[in-house]
Amino acid sequence: MIAQFPKVRTSFSLQSMLQDRERMLDSLMNNLKGMVYCCLFDEQWSMVFVSEGCLGLTGYAPGEVLNNRLISYEALTYEDDRERVRQRIDEAVETGDQFELEYRIRHADGRICWVLERGSPLYNDEGEVEALEGFIQDITLRKHSEQVAQEAEERYRSIFDNAIEGIYQTSPDGKYLNFNPALARIYGYESPDALYQGISDIQSQLYVQPGKRDEFVALMREYGQILNFEAQVYRKDGKVIWISENAREVRDPDGSLLFYEGTVEDITERKNYERLIEYQATHDALTGLPNRTLMADRLQQCISFAERYGNKLAVAFVDLDHFKLINDSMGHQAGDQLLVTMAQRLTACVRDSDTVVRLGGDEFVLLLTSLQKVEDISQSMQRVLAAVAQPCAIQGREFVTSCSIGISLYPDDGREANTLLKHADSAMFKAKQSGRNNFQFFTSELNRLLTDRLDLEYRMRRAIENEEFVLYYQPKVRFSDGRICGAEALIRWHPPGEDMISPMSFIPVAEETGLIEEIGQWVLLTACHMAAYLKKTLGTVFPIAVNVSPRQFRQLNLVRTVELALYESGLDPACLELEITEGTLVHDTGLFVKTLQDLKAMGVELAIDDFGTGYSSMAYLKDFPVDRLKIDKAFVGNLENEPTNIAILKAIIALGHSLDLKVVAEGVETPYQQAFLHGIGCDELQGYIFSRPLPAQAFAELLQPLKKAG
Ligand code: C2E
Ligand code: MG
Ligand code: MG
Repeated sequence: MIAQFPKVRTSFSLQSMLQDRERMLDSLMNNLKGMVYCCLFDEQWSMVFVSEGCLGLTGYAPGEVLNNRLISYEALTYEDDRERVRQRIDEAVETGDQFELEYRIRHADGRICWVLERGSPLYNDEGEVEALEGFIQDITLRKHSEQVAQEAEERYRSIFDNAIEGIYQTSPDGKYLNFNPALARIYGYESPDALYQGISDIQSQLYVQPGKRDEFVALMREYGQILNFEAQVYRKDGKVIWISENAREVRDPDGSLLFYEGTVEDITERKNYERLIEYQATHDALTGLPNRTLMADRLQQCISFAERYGNKLAVAFVDLDHFKLINDSMGHQAGDQLLVTMAQRLTACVRDSDTVVRLGGDEFVLLLTSLQKVEDISQSMQRVLAAVAQPCAIQGREFVTSCSIGISLYPDDGREANTLLKHADSAMFKAKQSGRNNFQFFTSELNRLLTDRLDLEYRMRRAIENEEFVLYYQPKVRFSDGRICGAEALIRWHPPGEDMISPMSFIPVAEETGLIEEIGQWVLLTACHMAAYLKKTLGTVFPIAVNVSPRQFRQLNLVRTVELALYESGLDPACLELEITEGTLVHDTGLFVKTLQDLKAMGVELAIDDFGTGYSSMAYLKDFPVDRLKIDKAFVGNLENEPTNIAILKAIIALGHSLDLKVVAEGVETPYQQAFLHGIGCDELQGYIFSRPLPAQAFAELLQPLKKAG
């Protein structure tokens, strides 16, 4: 029925206002979508009043429903819901409350419709219920969409709960907000609750790698999502697994970040498989050593490393000698066994940071890093040769094999991986040609140096036994009165039937091999005997200086050795001076000062040799109880051509004097040098201009005038 609104009236009366209000309510009621009703509280819900909306709601005209003329409201109510409806209304009648309930009715056209009824009981003066009145509206559409939503919710919940992948929502500060059972399962928790309690900070409790969550957040910030984010995480039992995450940001309509939402997949198996595949692709199946593929990588890394730190790198090509023979005669199994044994021995010969590669067949490559000098390599190679040559028991028989090694050096023999390998290979060939069971450097210069050195070492050992060393003495002269005031003992090596060998060529080798300790002891004792002899013949104190090498100085019993030499020769300690090269000072000043003090306490004189070349810090010079500075001859030698040396010489002399030290100039050869040094206040000189180092006999003769004078 169409609503009829009253026309506007010009005159006002109460009567007409009440009439208007009734009409207005009527019109309103009949225009409502739904049915206003009043019914009896009986078996049939007998309707005594229904609004026009009855037709729309039930499909029956009001007249057909009123007083149950055609159908009662009880009959209209869907059978399954009748009892529930009555029960609910009974309760309301009991308590006098309003009621509100949802149920179904059967529409005249046969459809089942959902309705919402709101009503209240009406009571008579005795308090007995007389009727019910209220409003019933069709909610089928709303019910339908609710049902659709619920079904969808159930469907998604089931996907969420039953997914194999972990699904989660996390807060931006790394806490779990929501997640499914699969996530708990992946992380090894017995229930989602256990996971809630177990992980309160994702970064510190879940990710293995520090900063991984930050990386996650940074990617999110940049892209709003992440795909295939792989990470290692701890399971509850501490086991580490690999996961892959896909996630996105969820923001509110204002754009502020609410949480992250994503999925987690356990990819440990795939990762392990990948690792296995990678291992197989980069390692030799027989020996487990890195193969050619991995070597290419490693060699490149080693080159970059050596380049950055200025180290040397050695590539050693190792080839077993006569391997083919064993393989052919004993069978492949024996050959394989031999290769495995050799692989183990090679690995044991090198440091952990070095790499042993099997190239294939009986060829191996060693990559030796962080080398300081060529001698280090030759020592390693000696070890390799010895290890390979150890007897090897295979199938009840004992084999002795050997290998040939070729070595190339970075950067000396090449800067590129391929060049180094090629050169190591050709050096290996050289080793085969020179009789196998040896190693060769690619650069023949190195081979020569190494042989020379080995030869020198061997001969030097014999020289000690055969007493081939002699001491020469070079006088020192005082500038103030031009008189000889002491001497330096300088060693010479005179192998029988050969030329004299300079200390410059054998002292460094003696120093490296440790032979210097034995040689030094001999020098010290011989010089002490000479000084004692001179003191006796000259009748005056005549100090002799002895050179002490860095290694000798670091020797723990140096003080004791000096004491013994003094005791054995009966020498006055004031007649002995020890020269220590400046370079020694730089290493370890603590121990150094202690040794100097002990020597000084004994009454021995001390000098710093080759001063000006060792970059010693002037700052700690004052802490050393020394008596003399010996200016290196490099500053004196080219005084005429190198005017800058003048400044250095003046500075050293001024420094020495300010510390109350005597300053000696070495290597004075020309009258100009002598005059100049005298002029700037140098105290003593030593040099060819006065005398070369002399054998003991000649030196004693040189001192004769001194005796007369003294
Ligand atoms: P050094 O201790 O600085 O010795 C001075 C060197 O300068 C000596 O060389 C000496 O012969 C040389 N010389 C002296 N006057 C002149 C000169 O006017 N012109 C030139 N061009 N050279 C001059 P030498 O005897 O060949 O000794 C070389 C180095 O070997 C010494 O330098 C010292 O460091 C070491 N040395 C010598 N004997 C011993 C020793 O018994 N023990 C140790 N540990 N080292 C020694
Ligand atoms: Mg010296
Ligand atoms: Mg010197």
